[in-house]
Amino acid sequence: MQRLAWDEGMSVGVEAIDNDHKQLLALINEISDAIDRNKAPAVIEDVFAQLEAYVVEHFSREEALMRQCRYPDLKAHIKQHRQFTAKVPELKRELLNADSTEVAAEINLFLFDWLMNHIVGEDMCFAQLAHDSGLSTTKQRTPSYLRRMTSWLGNRLTLGRRIFLTALIPIVGVSLLSVLVLWISVQRFYHVQQLMGVTAIVQEINDLSHQLQMERGLSAGVISSEYVAFMPSLQSQRQLTDQAVVDFLLQLQGLPDLDPLLAAQIQITRHKLDELAGLREQIDSGSLTVIQSLGYYSTLIDSLQKIPEGTLKLGMDSDLVNSMTAYTALLHMKEAAGVQRAIGTQAILQGEFSPGLYQRYASLLGEQRSFSKVFNQFVSPEQQQLWQDHIQSPEALRMQGFESLIDRAIQDGRLSTLDSLRWFEVTSARIEGLKTLADQLGEVIDARAIAQVNELKWGLVITTITLLIILSLTILLSWLLNRSVIDPVRRMTRAMTRLAEGERDLRFTEHFARDELGRMAAAYEACRRSLLRADVAYTVSNHRQQVELQARIREKERFRVLASTDPLTGAINRRKFTELAENEIERAERYSRPLSVMMLDLDHFKRVNDTYGHAAGDDVLRAFYQTCYGKVRSTDIVSRLGGEEFAILMPETDMRQALELAARIRYAISQLVVKVGTRDRVNTLTVSIGVTAWDCAQAQTISDMLEQADQALYYAKELGRDRVVGYDEHCQLETGKARALDV
Ligand code: GH3
Ligand code: MG
Ligand code: MG
Repeated sequence: MQRLAWDEGMSVGVEAIDNDHKQLLALINEISDAIDRNKAPAVIEDVFAQLEAYVVEHFSREEALMRQCRYPDLKAHIKQHRQFTAKVPELKRELLNADSTEVAAEINLFLFDWLMNHIVGEDMCFAQLAHDSGLSTTKQRTPSYLRRMTSWLGNRLTLGRRIFLTALIPIVGVSLLSVLVLWISVQRFYHVQQLMGVTAIVQEINDLSHQLQMERGLSAGVISSEYVAFMPSLQSQRQLTDQAVVDFLLQLQGLPDLDPLLAAQIQITRHKLDELAGLREQIDSGSLTVIQSLGYYSTLIDSLQKIPEGTLKLGMDSDLVNSMTAYTALLHMKEAAGVQRAIGTQAILQGEFSPGLYQRYASLLGEQRSFSKVFNQFVSPEQQQLWQDHIQSPEALRMQGFESLIDRAIQDGRLSTLDSLRWFEVTSARIEGLKTLADQLGEVIDARAIAQVNELKWGLVITTITLLIILSLTILLSWLLNRSVIDPVRRMTRAMTRLAEGERDLRFTEHFARDELGRMAAAYEACRRSLLRADVAYTVSNHRQQVELQARIREKERFRVLASTDPLTGAINRRKFTELAENEIERAERYSRPLSVMMLDLDHFKRVNDTYGHAAGDDVLRAFYQTCYGKVRSTDIVSRLGGEEFAILMPETDMRQALELAARIRYAISQLVVKVGTRDRVNTLTVSIGVTAWDCAQAQTISDMLEQADQALYYAKELGRDRVVGYDEHCQLETGKARALDV
């Protein structure tokens, strides 16, 4: 009988339950032992009683634990427990009554089978729950924080979603980065577009401030000399200024949306320009001092010049910033020169510098020097060369000359001897030179701004396209990576499920990489093959068992046949004949059906033995039986009662039909030729037959009938053999003729 050893793989992780299972296993092994050693039924009964008690104890322990961890299939599980508890006494009875070791083995096998199904199929399902509820006794390390986070995510999101998110997060990151880069590029583009607008008015600002500077100088002259020398020039200058204002305002209309600070600065300038007409009236009416007039013009020009300065904040490239810085320095220098011209004009006209005015005059010279330094610092070598050309130009040299003339005249106290108009002309010529320089620089700035806008425009297009390509590639790559993980996992899950359902046909034909998935596929394949091998082994052993069983059945059948047949002829023996005949008599009696019996005895058979030998006699007996068997109906029963004496039971056959059959048999035997040995043949066989029919009135038994048939047979022998005699009270019926036995 088989034994089963405990394996740690059978553990459900709860020590008390494992101990129970070990004990149950030991008890079933003990039963095997008892069967093997043919122990007394009392021993088997004792072990079974222990098993019965332990099963109940184990089940109640297990159910309590299941309740504790709220096992969802508890009801079904309890039902199975009850079924098994009820089955144990039944099995014990069966085992004690078992008349063969096969039955005992089957019961033993059932117990092992039940225990294994109970542990592996059911208890292991609740093992995980027991573990989660903290009932498990298996020592496990506390998982790290990261591992807990991982399993938390794993419990809340399916694998598909987790992989999707793994792919999505970099996509979102790249998208955000792309949006940021695009936003910065658009912002720069927007700033440079504003810059373009502003550079478009830089020329106008330069022009307008130049005209205002001229007007300021002439106004100072007019106020100081009371309209004498400067008025005509001022009038025509005002027209030029007005024209420049109109051009400036027209240019403003074409500007794009500007930075708020820049727009505010332009607005301030507009307001100041609106005040220009009122100022002129005050100058003309002589209600303004030179200082007041200078102050107004200067703030207006200053306001104008702050507009290009505002563009420095617009995120231009360093070249453009440098040029713009140099440009504003140049404008400031020009402005300082303009103020210097106005102050100088007034001082010459008045014949002296008031104390404050000289200081201002001197500081303007200093301002021009420092602005020229700034200019030189920020411009390109070519523009530095232009600057050099400017300071060595005749206008600049004349200006220097006049300045030293003023210096000397101040020392000599003869400032009034100098020509204020000449001063105005000389300074104006120099300012004109500065304006030309500013115009040239303005053109350079304009060209650079256009180049930068184009550069940015293309940069923006290229950046957008590049980002879109990167984003598309990232999405595509993420999608592919996602599929490359989730697809094999899905297929593996499908394959595992089929494997668990008993299907062994699913095989991975494609090649997996040597990564975790590859190893998983290899493990699946190994598992599939070992299950396949186990299946084959099971089928083979099953088949072997079937073959053995069939052989045993055949053997049994052979014994059964041997016990009821005559080994020489194959005819049914007397014992079986009596048994079958009794059944037939019962049937005939119950349904009032006819039934007949005949007895047959070969005539002078002893002579056959004597003449041809005993083996030949056997051959004749076999041929005789075959002849009889060939003549009867399938429901008739031919039996060898002993020696050369045979009987035939004929259900549903009355006396007349029986006599007819007997006659046919008698004739067939008379025609029978039996080949005996290599040369001889027996062809002189005759048979005597006694026939009787069942008579229900007399409640005959088979012995009675055989007795009557034997009497009729005896009578046939008496009459000379080779004949059929039907039994009646006098055994008078006779059919068939006697024939000489020819041996
Ligand atoms: P009768 O016509 O009066 O029946 O004469 P008989 O010779 O047939 O009858 P008897 O009873 O005198 O002899 C029967 C013989 O049958 C005796 C025996 O040797 C022979 N016999 C009985 N059983 C077997 C057997 O199994 N094989 C062979 N070869 N002969 C057998
Ligand atoms: Mg005989
Ligand atoms: Mg005989």
